[in-house]
Amino acid sequence: MAELEGLEFGKSDFVLLDEVTMEQFMENLKLRFEKGRIYTFIGEVVVSVNPYREMDIYGKETIDAYRGRELYENPPHLYAVSDAAYKAMKRRAKDTCIVISGESGAGKTEASKYIMQYIAAITNPTQRAEVESVKNVLLKSNCVLEAFGNAKTNRNDNSSRFGKYMDINFNFNGDPTGGHINNYLLEKSRVVHQQDGERNFHSFYQLLRGGSNEMLESFHLQSDPAVYTYTREGATTNNDRTSHKAVMSALNVIGFSEEEINSIYQILATILLLGNMQFECDGESVQIVGLEAVNHISELTATDPESVSKSLLYRTVATGGGEVIEKGHSEQDACFGRDAFAKALYERLFGWIVSRINTVIEVKDYNPMLHGKNTVIGVLDIYGFEIFDNNSFEQFCINYCNEKLQQLFIELILRQEQGEYQREGITWQHIDYFNNQIIVDLVEQPHKGIISILDEACLTVGNVTDTVCLDSMDTKLAQHPHYTSRKLSPTDKTMDFQKHFRIRHYAGDVTYSVEGFLDKNKDMLFQDFKRLMYNSANPVLKEMWPDGHLSITEVTKRPLTAATLFKNSIVALVDKLACKEPYYVRCIKPNEMKSPVLFDDARCQHQVAYLGLMENVMVRRAGFAYRQPYSRFLQRYKMTCEYTWPQHLMASDREAVETIVTQHGFQDDVAYGHTKLFVRTPRSLFTLEQERAAL
Ligand code: ATP
Ligand code: MG
Repeated sequence: MAELEGLEFGKSDFVLLDEVTMEQFMENLKLRFEKGRIYTFIGEVVVSVNPYREMDIYGKETIDAYRGRELYENPPHLYAVSDAAYKAMKRRAKDTCIVISGESGAGKTEASKYIMQYIAAITNPTQRAEVESVKNVLLKSNCVLEAFGNAKTNRNDNSSRFGKYMDINFNFNGDPTGGHINNYLLEKSRVVHQQDGERNFHSFYQLLRGGSNEMLESFHLQSDPAVYTYTREGATTNNDRTSHKAVMSALNVIGFSEEEINSIYQILATILLLGNMQFECDGESVQIVGLEAVNHISELTATDPESVSKSLLYRTVATGGGEVIEKGHSEQDACFGRDAFAKALYERLFGWIVSRINTVIEVKDYNPMLHGKNTVIGVLDIYGFEIFDNNSFEQFCINYCNEKLQQLFIELILRQEQGEYQREGITWQHIDYFNNQIIVDLVEQPHKGIISILDEACLTVGNVTDTVCLDSMDTKLAQHPHYTSRKLSPTDKTMDFQKHFRIRHYAGDVTYSVEGFLDKNKDMLFQDFKRLMYNSANPVLKEMWPDGHLSITEVTKRPLTAATLFKNSIVALVDKLACKEPYYVRCIKPNEMKSPVLFDDARCQHQVAYLGLMENVMVRRAGFAYRQPYSRFLQRYKMTCEYTWPQHLMASDREAVETIVTQHGFQDDVAYGHTKLFVRTPRSLFTLEQERAAL
């Protein structure tokens, strides 16, 4: 609450604004950023602005100041919500989750790391070895996941290219006993192509720059990323060298074996070599240019060279009559296959690393009869809403995910509020807010939604192009208030007839280009590659490709499409979050230049709008802005009333509080719950605060 900070730093809770207008909101946000106060509450939600500089606010002293304290006893901080989540878990045995959202570069991943560090710091006071080891693995997993899942983009030098949800399990003592990581939609297209000025995943550069000469030699690699098509766009930095060491050591600490670590880097090397592979057509058939690479790849993947060449040049197909034939690729098919293989290798590697970490941190031998209830704190660090100049399939998935999370936010925040009023026996009026369910339906509804239409197009045999699919969407969705396209609004020259459709998202309009939608949704990989990897003599590699054992005649069932798989994973995520008590961190990026001093009003205002922060403040204020247990309220304000100072003689704390409230004349602004006082407007509390300060 504002009481601990002077007003020169602005209001520490947006609920305390005199009026809830965008102008006042922005003024307060900017003032606080300029004064180095990067965190502000909206009730229990923390709004964070990326400081783009090191802040001296995460050390041991700060941790001690927040440990075990109530949310409003300290200035806003990530540690305040972390502690609130931890307390809810420990005192009330509640599963909780901390949802961190915001756009690329807003500071989500940094926030998630501070939250984990805080939890690690306040637990296991007796330093039990097995708990320390769990904490260590949880913290080290970040380093590994960042190496393989993050990349330099034009928005963020260390951008997470996957969504991450991590559960941390606690025993009845409140000490971590394990955890589980779920990863979402790794941007695997980055393996084979990056935008100007961007890099491939850090792991490649770390290997090239940090790997020992012997290692690189045995992998047939040169240390210069410019040599490789897949890494040509980016350069290595000194950071890559130090990070490589840190990642190797983290892998060791987590418990990856030598063989496993070696396999990981062999796969990276394979991908780099694949990227340089070229094909030529000698008039009759397509050949690989230079067979050396084939030998190297076969060596690195423990497969025989013949099979490597064959899988790159031919595809096994089953004819209608059940006959199996080998069909030679065109040059274009061969390139497509090679890139699809490289992407799949990386995606499976990443998935395998996550599941390997999970086997280490998985809670083992937990007996609730013996150990009490096993509770969980989940931390979600997932991509925010994206509007680029050119929005494709990935943005479509990411923005759908944000619609789902917004839906959850609305539901949980309101549900939480209403739950509390109910428990305390308070009547309150339901308030209206924009319900984005209609947009969620537009995307995910069976048969009618965009994903269904896409899937249908992917299943149709024959020449279904992206444009044909767009036509089908136009026909089926013409009436939908949140969908439009050039055909449906012919005068809108910003869209192209063949290419574009637009969704009116809760966070703003996004125009998507359908180019590549079908290919990305099909996500096709020739079965021959799967079989090649399954037949590898390297058990680690084999383990990553369990589906490679199917013979071609068995592969009749179509695999689920990328959009459907993503949808299923997000639905499961939302279900998981929905049964937990939620805490929110809403991150804002102050400017595009990574500057610690620049507050770009327009950019920030846009984020405030689409994060729904104004609505959040309104919801919070429509009910009761503040609530405090009677005893605590009394403790703080008893000196402002002659009947309660130094002690009251009334039958209960509640009566004493009623006396204080009535004496200050704001009895119409409050409601009395069973255990708490609810105050509608912040002004009443301000009056009390001022009086208290004047004494
Ligand atoms: P993406 O969606 O691209 O993964 P993100 O929201 O996870 O983005 P971060 O990687 O957490 O963004 O932050 C981007 C950069 O901003 C960091 O590398 C760091 O330089 C800076 N930064 C973020 N938060 C803080 C902080 N609390 N203190 C200091 N610097 C920070
Ligand atoms: Mg991130």
